[in-house]
Amino acid sequence: MSIKYKAVQVTKPGKLEIVEKAITEPTSGQVRIRVEACGVCHTDALTVEGAFPGINYPRVPGHEVVGTIEAIGPNVDGWKEGQRVGVGLMAGHCEHCQPCRRGDFVNCANQVMAGISSDGGYAEKMIANADGLAAIPDNLPSTEGGPLLCPGLTTFNALRNSKARPGDLVAIQGVGGLGHLGIQYARQMGFQVVAIARGKDKEDLAKQLGAHHYINSSAEDPVAALQALGGATVILATAASGKSMSPLLSGLVPRGQLVVAGAGNEPIEVNPTPLLFGMRSVVGTMTGSPIDAEDTLSFSSPQGIHPMIETFGLERAPEAYERMMSGHARFRIVLTVGE
Ligand SMILES: [Zn+2]
Ligand SMILES: [Zn+2]
Repeated sequence: MSIKYKAVQVTKPGKLEIVEKAITEPTSGQVRIRVEACGVCHTDALTVEGAFPGINYPRVPGHEVVGTIEAIGPNVDGWKEGQRVGVGLMAGHCEHCQPCRRGDFVNCANQVMAGISSDGGYAEKMIANADGLAAIPDNLPSTEGGPLLCPGLTTFNALRNSKARPGDLVAIQGVGGLGHLGIQYARQMGFQVVAIARGKDKEDLAKQLGAHHYINSSAEDPVAALQALGGATVILATAASGKSMSPLLSGLVPRGQLVVAGAGNEPIEVNPTPLLFGMRSVVGTMTGSPIDAEDTLSFSSPQGIHPMIETFGLERAPEAYERMMSGHARFRIVLTVGE
């Protein structure tokens, strides 16, 4: 076996370069993964552009990783060599902070974040914490697993933890990387699904993915359109625009929830009137734990849920990253490694 492996790392903000790194052995509680695929995600910009506070370079981005365990360190139970596993953004918890002691691992104060606080999956190899691993079902292609571990998990968990019940009207705002999966999950969970996006171009796709209704927010007022349908119990807001989310609160039924999954630079402005009169709420959602990721994966394939992906070889990571940042990807980009 070669003692070096290829990785794509950030050496200073905005600079991704291909390098060779020395293979290291996993230490206590860790495994080494031979990476097969890694999704390229907008969250990678925190690493590549240096936006994450206190980030250390060089750093290998990538938190939508699928690969095979090739070495196991001491004190690892429940995982075996040759097993296919995934690593998402929440890549290991500390077990001693207050949220961990309450069992709330997603909110661990010392969370290992793959590709941000430790080297991620833009590489042929990756060292990962065993408590951050998710088992990958045999029939799931590695390239599809990556996006399911991040936008898939985010939308699946947001919807299943929301207050919507089968039959309720659920709106998915945005038909992009998150939204194209959110529509599929919402449909398969038994909701009445309405997709909201700007323009007519995404209407056919949204309906193919499972939306019962489509609201073109450039041509009609989405609040009036939602109210005409009886009001939404949940609106899952996936657009990277706080401004476009702000007015949607009034499209909810009383006690409805605006669940925010998309991050934009502008703030969400909340009008207190629909918040008070109708007791509506705005809540955030954050990917999920590794066991939530396994739940996402085991729900997806049997229900025919697939991410729409474009693939690039690992060496083309800088180009793949640029394409993702330009907003032109349809809808997720995945780096393929090895073969
Ligand atoms: Zn991601
Ligand atoms: Zn913790």
